[in-house]
Amino acid sequence: AKSWTMVRHFEGAPKPEDFKLVNTELPSLKDGELLLESEFLSVDPYIRPYSKEKLKEGDIILGSQVARVVESNNAAFPVGGYYVAYAGWTTHFISDGTGLDALPSNWPDNLPRSLALGAVGMPGVTAYYGLLEICKPKEGDVLLVNAAAGAVGSLVGQIGKIKGCKVVGSAGSDEKLTFLKEIGFDEAFNYKTVSSLAEALKTASPEGYDCYFDNVGGKFSDAALQQMKDFGRITVCGAISQYNDSVPPSGPYIQPYILFKQLLMQGFLVWTWKNRYPEAQKQLLQWIAEGKLKYHEHITNGFENMPAGFIGMLKGENVGKAIIIV
Ligand code: NDP
Repeated sequence: AKSWTMVRHFEGAPKPEDFKLVNTELPSLKDGELLLESEFLSVDPYIRPYSKEKLKEGDIILGSQVARVVESNNAAFPVGGYYVAYAGWTTHFISDGTGLDALPSNWPDNLPRSLALGAVGMPGVTAYYGLLEICKPKEGDVLLVNAAAGAVGSLVGQIGKIKGCKVVGSAGSDEKLTFLKEIGFDEAFNYKTVSSLAEALKTASPEGYDCYFDNVGGKFSDAALQQMKDFGRITVCGAISQYNDSVPPSGPYIQPYILFKQLLMQGFLVWTWKNRYPEAQKQLLQWIAEGKLKYHEHITNGFENMPAGFIGMLKGENVGKAIIIV
């Protein structure tokens, strides 16, 4: 097996020299075990904050994949079956079947299996429950989402449109703004080039926002909270603008807005919804089949390029879900 391991803990933005490619010979299979081969791997922002607590130097980097069973001593997992696994950045691995998730049973033949890591996988389920269960969008609401051209954000905006919202997105390049318009966002702005976030938010929706799906945190949230309508709802899904910070964040300076606007602000972790994945996946697959939900993938080819794919995603090089093809 080829695997990417962590040479040293990340400091600031992850760098190529933090990763090392190692070759290991896997042992032969015991009874009940199976050998899987990764087909697609996922690079996700959570890897950056979670590595510190979950990894020690020399460990395989955290991550998930779609993998195929290539050898099996376990009748429940026959050769040729495809599963989503959390085996980290590796081409091959041995499992006893624990923690392997079969692809949804109604997976259409014409859909790439990589979507099990994106629009129909963890990011899709995040967008679905994070938006519907916390922001609770209603017809006519104005919804704001940042990192809007990414895996989660692009789905949040489209689900908002399905629910009858006016949707405003922000992203870090003009190419991404074009993409947002293509997938149905009503308004989009480039947070890197606007002279004032507050003005950009006001221009996009002079009446303010009912729902705010936050993937970014930091200064963006400071500005966004000021533009919320009374009784607005906020899903705190991510804080990617702060993942590379070495000093813990302080504040929140925005508390008076939460008070006087009587806002509801709740953190969201998709793992909490593990038991309800199938329900969300069924709906996401249906919306895709009906053409109501468009997906986009940003593909990096070659396992050897996985660190570059990860670093690039954190810098915003991806439109849609960042995926590695082995
Ligand atoms: P994306 O596909 O959105 O990729 C990350 C994007 O973040 C980049 O493309 C970049 O886009 C943007 N970004 C990077 N740095 C900054 C910055 N300093 N300020 C603003 N934007 C930045 O990733 P995901 O869709 O997988 O994840 C999006 C967010 O959702 C992350 O915060 C992630 O941690 C969170 N998440 C949370 C989950 C949960 O259970 N709570 C589950 C899954 C994801 P741009 O060009 O716009 O800068």
